[in-house]
Amino acid sequence: MTMPSELLFAAKHAKGFMPANEGLALFAAACEYGKLGPICEIGTYCGKSAIYLGAAARQAGSVVVTVDHHRGSEEIQPGWAHHDPTLMDIRFGKMDSLPTFRATIAAAGLEDEVIAVVGRSERVAALWNTPLGMLFIDGGHSDEPVTRDYEGWAPHVMPGGALVFHDVYPDPADGGQAPYRVYLRALESGAFSEVSAEGSVRVLERVGPGI
Ligand code: SAH
Ligand code: MG
Repeated sequence: MTMPSELLFAAKHAKGFMPANEGLALFAAACEYGKLGPICEIGTYCGKSAIYLGAAARQAGSVVVTVDHHRGSEEIQPGWAHHDPTLMDIRFGKMDSLPTFRATIAAAGLEDEVIAVVGRSERVAALWNTPLGMLFIDGGHSDEPVTRDYEGWAPHVMPGGALVFHDVYPDPADGGQAPYRVYLRALESGAFSEVSAEGSVRVLERVGPGI
C-alpha cells in the first residue's frame, strides 16, 4: 500500500511530533489492521498522525476515532520545551489544539474517515465497547496516563488486532521512559507480541486474551 502523495504532503506539513518514517509505519499498520475493525488513536493533538491513520482507513475501508481533551499534555504546557504559543486560547488561558486539528483534517479531505472525540481518554474509555482493529497510544506520556490508556483501551483490541505505541525509548537519553515501561508490560502480559518497529513506533499484535 502506498500513501497518496497529496496526503503524505499534508501529513509532513501538519504541526506535530511524528517524523515521516514513523508516520508511514503507522500508515502501513493501519492499512493492515484497519481491515479487522476501527482504528482508535489516543492523543490527537493537531491531527498529524491522524492523517496517516485516516489515509490508511480510507484504503482499508475503516475509520479512525481519535480521542483528546485538546488541552495539551504537561510537556507541551506554557514554559515547557515543546509548547506552541499559537495553540493558546486566551479566553480560558488554556491550550486548545482542536481548531488546528479541525483545519488540518478538513484541508486533507479526511473528515469522513477521522472522527474526533473531545474529552479525557479515561472518561471515554469507560464508555467504550467496540472491538478495535488497531489501537494507537500517544496521549499523556508519563506513567500514570500511559498506564491508564493501556488499562482502559488495550482490552478492546480484538484477537489478531494491533496495539501500537509511540515514543518508545529504551535508552533514557532519547526520551521519557513511561511508554517504554508500558510497552514492556504489554509484552510481558503474553497477550501481545511485537511484529515491527520503526523509530519510536512499536507495533504489537494480540496473540492471547487479557492485558
Ligand atoms: N498523536 C499526535 C500527538 C499527540 S500529543 C501526533 O502524532 O500528531 C499528545 C496529546 O495527548 C495532546 O494533544 C494531549 O492533549 C493529549 N492528552 C494527554 N493526556 C490526555 C488525556 N488524559 N485524555 C485525552 N487526551 C490527553
Ligand atoms: Mg508521540
